[in-house]
Amino acid sequence: MTLPQGSFEFDKYMHKIAHNLTQVQNRIQAAAKACGRNPQGITLLAVSKTHPPEAVAQAYEAGHTAFGENYLQEALSKQAQLAELPLSWHFLGPVQSNKCRALAESFDWLHTLADLRHAQRLSQARPSQMAPLNVCIQVNIDAAPSKSGVTPAQALGLCQGVEALPGLCLRGLMAIPDPEHPGAFADLAALFAAINPQLARPMDTLSMGMSDDLELAIAQGSTLVRIGTAIFGARQTPPSP
Ligand SMILES: *Cc1c(COP(=O)(O)O)cnc(C)c1O
Repeated sequence: MTLPQGSFEFDKYMHKIAHNLTQVQNRIQAAAKACGRNPQGITLLAVSKTHPPEAVAQAYEAGHTAFGENYLQEALSKQAQLAELPLSWHFLGPVQSNKCRALAESFDWLHTLADLRHAQRLSQARPSQMAPLNVCIQVNIDAAPSKSGVTPAQALGLCQGVEALPGLCLRGLMAIPDPEHPGAFADLAALFAAINPQLARPMDTLSMGMSDDLELAIAQGSTLVRIGTAIFGARQTPPSP
């Protein structure tokens, strides 16, 4: 968004965020009700990537505190500008070795862990005065060649590796299924159910569902939906692959 601050369009955009948040919350309630689930069991993560700090502040004014970002530099700059607000930050972008320290120092959650060496680096770099970094393992559930994430067969091993690391807290599994593979939500839920009894401490988070498919994801057991466009409007730069 590059609307000039103070302009009529900027004000309209800000006003729309509160309205959109209510609409998304209504969608979550309706989707939960339709499958007999308690909507309290579904967390809404507002994905603010490419949107300005004013948009995040606006969502905070509307009562929202959990935000997702994909690009490290952009996220750090937003965090600095909003440092006085009690927000929690979730990283959704690809993890790289040389970013592990900054990620460990600046986020509450990371949804895209897919490599044990990254896990070790993140754990080591997590400052001791902070709570362990909450992590989800990203699973390439529909075996898309272009997508990151471990294979379903590798997921248990990585979960067990993460459980052993003091700086990390294993919370769940995450996937970005292709819209052409709606069955992938059920596959991820089944993998979650199969892995959980084999862990020392069960996971509590199934991170799946975005603006276009949150109803499908909730019907299959999602406990955290990651919503960008339906809250903040269209992005000017494309989402990261
Ligand atoms: C950008 C992004 C989202 C939000 O997508 P929308 O379709 O805008 O809701 C969710 N999850 C991840 C991993 C993303 O990169």
